[in-house]
Amino acid sequence: MTHNKKADVRTLSQNLITVALPVPLRRLFTYQVAQPGAYIGRRVKVPFGKQELIGIIVDQPNTTDLPENKLKPANLIIDEHPVIPQNTLWDLIFKVSQYYHHSLGDCFATALPNALMKGESCTLSPEIFWSITPTGVEAKTSLSKRAVKQQKALTYLENENHPVNQDELKHVEISTATLKTLLEKGWVEKHLITPKAPKITTGEKKSLNKEQLEAYKEVTSTNDQFVATLLEGITGSGKTEVYLQVIEEQLNTNRQVLILIPEIGLTPQTLKRFEQRFPGHVGVIHSGLTDKQRLNTWLKAREGALRIIIGTRSAIFTPLKWPGMIIIDEEHDLSFKQQDGLRYSSRDIALLRGQMENIPVLLGSATPSLESLNNALSGKYRHIKLTQRATGQSLPTIKLLDCKNQPMIEGFSQPLLKSIESHIQAGNQVLVFINRRGFAPVLLCHQCGWIADCTRCDSYMTLHQSKHNEYLQCHHCGRYQNKIHNCPKCNSTELVSVGQGTERIEKFLSDRFPNISLQRIDRDTTRRKDSMKNYIEAAKKGETQLLVGTQMIAKGHHFPKVTLVAILDIDGALFSSDFRAPERAAQLITQVAGRAGRAERKGEVVVQTHHPEHSLLQALLQNDYHQLATKLLADRNEAQLPPHTYVALFRSESTNKDSAYEFLAFVKQNFSQFMNQLEVLGPVASTISRKAGRFRFQLLLNSPSRKALHSAINERMDEIEQSSLASKVRWSLDIDAQDLL
Ligand code: ADP
Ligand code: ZN
Ligand code: ZN
Repeated sequence: MTHNKKADVRTLSQNLITVALPVPLRRLFTYQVAQPGAYIGRRVKVPFGKQELIGIIVDQPNTTDLPENKLKPANLIIDEHPVIPQNTLWDLIFKVSQYYHHSLGDCFATALPNALMKGESCTLSPEIFWSITPTGVEAKTSLSKRAVKQQKALTYLENENHPVNQDELKHVEISTATLKTLLEKGWVEKHLITPKAPKITTGEKKSLNKEQLEAYKEVTSTNDQFVATLLEGITGSGKTEVYLQVIEEQLNTNRQVLILIPEIGLTPQTLKRFEQRFPGHVGVIHSGLTDKQRLNTWLKAREGALRIIIGTRSAIFTPLKWPGMIIIDEEHDLSFKQQDGLRYSSRDIALLRGQMENIPVLLGSATPSLESLNNALSGKYRHIKLTQRATGQSLPTIKLLDCKNQPMIEGFSQPLLKSIESHIQAGNQVLVFINRRGFAPVLLCHQCGWIADCTRCDSYMTLHQSKHNEYLQCHHCGRYQNKIHNCPKCNSTELVSVGQGTERIEKFLSDRFPNISLQRIDRDTTRRKDSMKNYIEAAKKGETQLLVGTQMIAKGHHFPKVTLVAILDIDGALFSSDFRAPERAAQLITQVAGRAGRAERKGEVVVQTHHPEHSLLQALLQNDYHQLATKLLADRNEAQLPPHTYVALFRSESTNKDSAYEFLAFVKQNFSQFMNQLEVLGPVASTISRKAGRFRFQLLLNSPSRKALHSAINERMDEIEQSSLASKVRWSLDIDAQDLL
């Protein structure tokens, strides 16, 4: 049988299902099931090539284009009920797939917990609860005074008078071991209970100051409808306290709140504040959890058994039974944008979701992104400002130290070293910021000029050298090599390391100030779980006097005793080819500076630069991010760049340079018919033009109209995706790309 027209081959068939599979192809797949039934939203195992995949059933059509002999039966329907109820979250995932021009199946795979995509059961497992028995009550009075732990457990359970969650008991340091001992004696009972929402109890709250109170009133005045609010509050102005009280209001009306924060491992304090205020109500979703833990929190949120969900980027896809509000803390943070696979912006999806659920969305930051600021200034978002520090302290004073022609020792000018010394002598803490980890970014031969570069990338190897080991590593592809002591070209032993990284600063400062305690905080020292938490606690207790770190220390930490923040080398950030570089530099400096003088003692910030006249630095001297950002917005407008325009970035990479280039040239051709609505820039080599052995190119689409941009992409995507050039390279499309390098 030949099939000329689609209509000819339509198979009228029964029990068809359309499945979204976790593959990059932007299309759906049809299979057949044995029984009639309502299948949409349920997971299914299906044959796919030689493998078996798990997908989500998204439709039950009556007909298919597939000829009967090509129609395959599904292997297994996994669920009895939909994994995601057919409500807003379901629709949201479809919208995300459309907006990012990305495979629906892959969107589901990003949105759903891993455990579900692996086929785990989708029912909430019961939790363990403990209660005291009548014999336990009796035994308690005669129990030896020395059995302290048992006493404590029995007293707690007797006072509570109802079965208590094991997690809560752990929280008050009653161990499972103690409970087991008591269980053997018959003094306590163990119950397995399916979780449901406990009654609301809240920890102690602060009384809000005038600005905070006004913010609180405004936000809560529109508690049951979609309104986007930008809470622009300087560092330490008490934004978190406002969130906490706004959340309480939501809980009082039995709703759930979703909170997105940048990186949980880096900001354990923030999480702790939420947990202390709302004990037992907070569920955390982040990458450090096991699949099982993550699924459990997800399910509890879906069943309404958790009231507050705090998570990183992907938590935006948490199902909520009683959606009340979405809060995004540090909304400017880059970590909200995923940089591979489905390149989504969790912040943008939060706004979409808020609109669809008709609930308020609260964005908070001391240094809002130009996108959000633009929306606030244009009246699209409500704009609330907190201009004072909650502790009453003023913002630190910022000083620029001109390094031109200055004698420098390991990256430090004399005045800066003096300053550090005097702050330490006064019993305060000092934070030294340098955005480069490792010992030195370059290792070169003094005799012949040879430089240790990465054989797989267009970049140099970073020298790592700390107490315990020495090695070279490429920070782009991860390639590792033992440190060399002879030049491979001329065999000279005169290899010199050029430039400073955190390890070198650590070494220099601990030699210079031998009697003080110093902690380096960067990706290398924080690999172990809880290490960040321990460093911060030590710093808070005053055990650490000097902190040396990368941007990790810029993020939302509250170090009460830091009075001096030194920013060693900012010039690189001032002269980048990325149009967002000035915005990023301003955010970074303001955030790092914000770590100083948060408690009683006034803070000071010293920025070393060879360009003290640079307009961005001059503007930052005023300590007024808002004013600077407004100016940067005007520049963007002038240059016709986001947020005044909308961008999409095609990237392509291949071991074959020509293939990588030619694919993008082909993409460009596809958009030639839209030249009056969009600007097409490229293809050009990426800044790191070769990475891990692959040549990289990019092509930027820029348009003043989001609609025009997306409809052009919609029109051309199939052609691009199905071209033979596409199959020769690794390529991706990044909508609203943040990182253009
Ligand atoms: P932000 O989130 O804006 O950086 P935080 O909420 O962390 O600010 O507040 C900074 C510090 O001020 C914290 O130590 C916090 O406990 C304290 N604080 C916040 N609000 C108040 C208030 N109304 N009264 C007293 N202290 C407050
Ligand atoms: Zn040499
Ligand atoms: Zn490399």
